[in-house]
Amino acid sequence: MAIGKTRVIVIGAGATGIICARELSNRGFLVTVLEAKDYVGGRAHSIHPESFSHPIETGAEFIHGDLPITKSLVREAGLSIIKVEGQSWHRYNGKLSTSQYFIEEWDLLMEKLQALEQDISIGEFLKKEFSDSRFDALRRSVVSFVEGYDAASVSNASAFALREEWLNEDFDAQYRIEGGYSKLMNYIKTECDKNGVRFSFSEEVTNIQWDVNKVLVRTKAGKFYESEKVIITIPIGVLQSENTILFKPEIKDRFEAIHKLGYGSVVKFLIEFKEKFWETLDPLNDGIGLKKMGFFFSDASIPTWWTQYPTDSTLLTGWLAGPSAEANKHKREEARLTEAVKALAYIFGFSEDQIRSKIKAWRIINWTEDVYSKGAYTYPTVEAPQARKQLILPVKDVIYFAGEGLYEGPEGGTVEAAFRSGLKTASELKVES
Ligand SMILES: Cc1cc2nc3c(=O)[nH]c(=O)nc-3n(C[C@H](O)[C@H](O)[C@H](O)COP(=O)(O)OP(=O)(O)OC[C@H]3O[C@@H](n4cnc5c(N)ncnc54)[C@H](O)[C@@H]3O)c2cc1C
Repeated sequence: MAIGKTRVIVIGAGATGIICARELSNRGFLVTVLEAKDYVGGRAHSIHPESFSHPIETGAEFIHGDLPITKSLVREAGLSIIKVEGQSWHRYNGKLSTSQYFIEEWDLLMEKLQALEQDISIGEFLKKEFSDSRFDALRRSVVSFVEGYDAASVSNASAFALREEWLNEDFDAQYRIEGGYSKLMNYIKTECDKNGVRFSFSEEVTNIQWDVNKVLVRTKAGKFYESEKVIITIPIGVLQSENTILFKPEIKDRFEAIHKLGYGSVVKFLIEFKEKFWETLDPLNDGIGLKKMGFFFSDASIPTWWTQYPTDSTLLTGWLAGPSAEANKHKREEARLTEAVKALAYIFGFSEDQIRSKIKAWRIINWTEDVYSKGAYTYPTVEAPQARKQLILPVKDVIYFAGEGLYEGPEGGTVEAAFRSGLKTASELKVES
């Protein structure tokens, strides 16, 4: 069948789905995108509630490094990026300090990781190499980094993958898209529209019946869509859950592989204050104090916070990730706000009442409770490389899986990973001549 007659259904209109749809439509395929929500972008979604002065990022916020696909799309869309700057501050055991490094004894850690010959979990690695009490600070900082940044559990996150990530990570080069990630996602959608891609929103796919070059997709609303190929870009967390899409015939081996990937939780706290109250603090008496604060790391129950520096903004963003976010996933919003206020009071040395009185607007986004995400992003487990290899193999050239979780390079769990996976899948889609 010729490309121009081949219909492809893409399930999910996140970064993977829309870039894949654009690429496929460029190649001449007839593309329909089915999306459960009513917008494109999925986990990269900017909103502007009335109570906030500026748009806020509910999910993805940073471009983690000089990432080629994301940056070239940003350029193509005519958008601007802002380099993230600012000092890192810390409060551990009540003590406030500033330093560039947030993993203790970095060189020693990397030396031991480089010497590791067989992959094990990072938890096992710490036990093997750094169980002595003199490494308490090293262990604590690795655990909080793995849980906080990768949203991972140390009990199954791969030491090899973290070694790769840390060797490649350019911690200095982080950017934000001016106006938010949704601007980029909406641009890609417009490009898809120009190519004739059909979008159906608020369409949750529930069933896929398939045969060679024959796909029948059913949605929760009872609608049916037909095609020759289907590309599934929904999050790994959704695919891992019980009430996920039912396939007929079943594809058991693919689902076994899906369960071998790690998928972490994140709760994001977006709190706009009436003023940048942290700027009044000057613990080092250098006249600058926390005026240039970028990130804040701590041993508070919500440990990580950041400003929008260098952008002039009174927003503080809090980050609870990994097992601590998973453990309290059903906590109510008011209780979470109380926890956030308590954490900020400890971090900045104010009373809880003082912090509360300065709040202008707040939103708390719990990605694990979002039924179409069921968490934040994937992290590499020891079994992940093998599982991914199996998942990216198309099923009889009819069913394809794509998404940030299926990307095989070092930028896993990012928008870049999603774009790369979408582009790769679109370029590999086969038609029989
Ligand atoms: C809190 C948070 C912070 C993050 N921070 C960053 C960051 O700073 N930088 C970065 O690069 N990345 C970040 N990420 C990760 C990044 O957002 C993701 O890796 C990326 O957006 C995933 O894109 P995707 O297309 O693979 O999946 P998604 O964006 O999740 O798209 C999948 C789509 O499928 C839809 N869907 C689900 N089920 C169904 C169904 N049954 N039928 C139809 N549609 C369905 C969903 O609604 C969704 O729109 C963050 C993620 C989160 C949650």
